[in-house]
Amino acid sequence: MLLSDAPQSGSMLKRFLVVALAFSAPASAQTSALPFTLKQVGPGVYAAIDGPEHKAGSNAGFVVGDDGVLVVDALFTPEAAQALVSEIHRITPKPIRYVVNTHYHADHTGGDGVLRDAGAIIVAHRNVRGWVRVNNINLFGDRITPEIRARIEALPLPDVTTDQDLVVWLGSRKVVVRTVLGHTGGDLVVSVPDAKVLFAGDMLWRKVAPNLIDGSVKEWAATDAYFLVMADAAYGKPITFVPGHGDVANARDVDDFRTYLIDLRRLVAAGRKAKLKDEALVGYVAPKLRALHSDWTISDRAIAAEVKYMDQELAGTKKRPVPQPE
Ligand SMILES: [Zn+2]
Repeated sequence: MLLSDAPQSGSMLKRFLVVALAFSAPASAQTSALPFTLKQVGPGVYAAIDGPEHKAGSNAGFVVGDDGVLVVDALFTPEAAQALVSEIHRITPKPIRYVVNTHYHADHTGGDGVLRDAGAIIVAHRNVRGWVRVNNINLFGDRITPEIRARIEALPLPDVTTDQDLVVWLGSRKVVVRTVLGHTGGDLVVSVPDAKVLFAGDMLWRKVAPNLIDGSVKEWAATDAYFLVMADAAYGKPITFVPGHGDVANARDVDDFRTYLIDLRRLVAAGRKAKLKDEALVGYVAPKLRALHSDWTISDRAIAAEVKYMDQELAGTKKRPVPQPE
């Protein structure tokens, strides 16, 4: 989730307002601009890439099979999800059969209700059922508004849950849903082997500072290393990666992201060794990390949060979401 940027200017709220205004305007005043850019990344495989104003909240995508469509992630607002459904219907008359949530964060699950109304069965990691309503409220903390709270409390729970890899067949088209570790403790990625496409959810951010609030950098970096091995060995051809945030990516971007995580860990560890804390630690890490990744978007808010969470992980005090009994 892009919450690390949200409190800076109340931009999460601003996004809601922008979208709400856009959709309450008279029909004649509506623009045709989508909250995302749709990009074809393989035969019948599309990525919906969030725009610079972050109206979609995150990326999503979909796979058109013989007899239906599988959607990956539901975007943040119902309006953005509705735009995604409209684009799918524009591209294919086949029914929307599934939406796979890569994790519980609201910027990826906020549109689940719209996808379900459009016919989708919601597939998620088993931990998402226990987290999607409760932990998203915690995630907003004191920045939550009554509207956001009501929307989160009304989010549909997943219909199909798993803590194992799954294969979904869209007729003869194989889609593989894999469990991975690192971002929340309830993460899935979706691969389309025949198209060499991997929807990585928030296991991959392209040139944007990631939100570590629920993460383990140790597990996360290992998962991204596995993506690289997979890209080399299992497929034999270049894989196109669709990240959770940022533009369509390749293996070099995966390596760049993994290097970012490892640089962050190394710099925070060095600062801790020099007995730096809090703001002094951020002041030590931020310029060095920015210099190493000068083409990245790293807000002050994001870097402060990353350093705090990395510090906690290294200290062994990091709190992560706890799986709930079913
Ligand atoms: Zn997330």
